[in-house]
Amino acid sequence: MQVRWKQGLVLVAAAFSGSVFAAQVINADIAVIGSGFAGMSAAADAAMNGKKVVVLEKQAFPGGASILCGGQYAIQGTKLQKSLGVPNDPPQSLVKDLILNGHNKNDLTTLILQAENSPRVTDWVIDTFKPVFIDNKLKYRAEFEFDRSLYLKGYCSGFYPKVQSVAEKAGVKLLLGTKAESLVVKGGRVTGIKAKKGNQAVTVNAKAVLLATGGYGANKAMLVEPLKSALYYGPASSTGDGHRMASAIGAKLENMEYGKRYPNGIESAPGVATSIIQGNYRAWLESGFLVNKDGKRVVNEKASNNNIMAVLEKQPGKLLYIVLDEPSFAKFVEGIKTQGVTDAQLKEWLANNGSKAPIFAHGDSLEAAAKAAGINPTNLRATLERYNGFVRAKKDEDFGRPVKFMVREAKTTGAYYIVEQKPRFATTMGSVVVDDHLRVLGASGKPIRGLYAAGEVINAMHGDDSSPGMNISWAFTSGKLSSEFMRGDMRK
Ligand SMILES: Cc1cc2nc3c(=O)[nH]c(=O)nc-3n(C[C@H](O)[C@H](O)[C@H](O)COP(=O)(O)OP(=O)(O)OC[C@H]3O[C@@H](n4cnc5c(N)ncnc54)[C@H](O)[C@@H]3O)c2cc1C
Repeated sequence: MQVRWKQGLVLVAAAFSGSVFAAQVINADIAVIGSGFAGMSAAADAAMNGKKVVVLEKQAFPGGASILCGGQYAIQGTKLQKSLGVPNDPPQSLVKDLILNGHNKNDLTTLILQAENSPRVTDWVIDTFKPVFIDNKLKYRAEFEFDRSLYLKGYCSGFYPKVQSVAEKAGVKLLLGTKAESLVVKGGRVTGIKAKKGNQAVTVNAKAVLLATGGYGANKAMLVEPLKSALYYGPASSTGDGHRMASAIGAKLENMEYGKRYPNGIESAPGVATSIIQGNYRAWLESGFLVNKDGKRVVNEKASNNNIMAVLEKQPGKLLYIVLDEPSFAKFVEGIKTQGVTDAQLKEWLANNGSKAPIFAHGDSLEAAAKAAGINPTNLRATLERYNGFVRAKKDEDFGRPVKFMVREAKTTGAYYIVEQKPRFATTMGSVVVDDHLRVLGASGKPIRGLYAAGEVINAMHGDDSSPGMNISWAFTSGKLSSEFMRGDMRK
């Protein structure tokens, strides 16, 4: 029995050992697995260019990591960056920065694609999806030679609906709650997807299939140390389905041991992190500084996340603490609230006063706060005085914190707050290996025909660590490029 839907969907009812189940069959030019920025930008571009596109999303809601992300977007080489005071930020500079931060573990094929295409693709993102950026001031980041970072207004959750809306208006069919389970291969070519929507089987036939399934941070079985025991703050959807479906048909994987660890999480629940990076950023513009359990400064607070992480790992207990006088704490709180920390959580953590994680210790003096946090109070007082000396001298002789981030001395009296800084991670770097047309490569090194990948599932572009705002940038660059390549290959 067959019922043909107006949209070209075909419902097939089949009888099996006495029971009847309905299998839905969908025909499309391009089938995308995953509705993050990578999948949706690919889908939008393909639909705007006349292709019939379906996006399968396993969750009941769209967006994956892309709807949760912090909104930092690196806009290297774009018209906008030029208009904001950086007239010449060449691709060579980005390549150099990313190789340095990624410790030369970068997949060079995709790194070159990013460097050569991200300026024009980011211009396209800005023209097409119309993001609004907070304050239009490029931020200093130690990872970059030139200032490249802007923040999306409303962060990613504010921006994602614009991307979804443009894609759907262009004709993209988004199927929520529809989990891709395997890739269909016929005659050595990927011709579709076997999926499930609840108990219903869904078969998608397509001329090209795009894996845009994100990372695997939520799947412990795919992680190795030190990621495996790091506090996770990513979405439950990042389970590496794309890596596993591709690998099941012979795709090569690379850099699976790497993920992006940041040195600025708090353990908001056992095994779970909340990022406090926005609190830190604000505290560096006050008088906040970092110490270890001995009450000693050990690092330039404005160093790259990567460098701070390396120092943190060598400290007792593998953690650091941020030390905040009253005005610095007020700004810090303003920052962490933008990352979802609620008044109720804050109240509870302050009431615990360092007795359990997350440590939000405080007291009416520096020494009282140090005691509550379990930090050596005598050393901490000496550290504060030394730090204030550097502020007066306009030079951090110990660690070279840039003087523009040493704006005022820390208060010597009054209440103090001390907050833990633990490693957190969400984003993985391990990839399905692709060629310079984002075609997934098989074990022989030849492309698996009909199969492409974009976004975090091919994150080896970054190396063993990603730079600020580069994940979003890569999701869009690789998403848009994948559409161009799939469309181009269909014309051949
Ligand atoms: C909290 C947080 C903050 C971040 N902040 C930043 C930031 O400020 N700047 C930055 O550059 N990067 C940031 N990142 C990283 C960035 O968000 C991601 O790397 C990027 O959004 C990945 O996009 P994607 O489209 O590849 O994957 P995702 O956005 O994760 O989308 C993948 C989608 O695929 C779906 N899917 C997976 N398997 C299947 C299946 N079998 N069938 C159907 N659907 C499936 C998932 O449900 C998901 O919706 C952050 C990440 C997190 C978690």
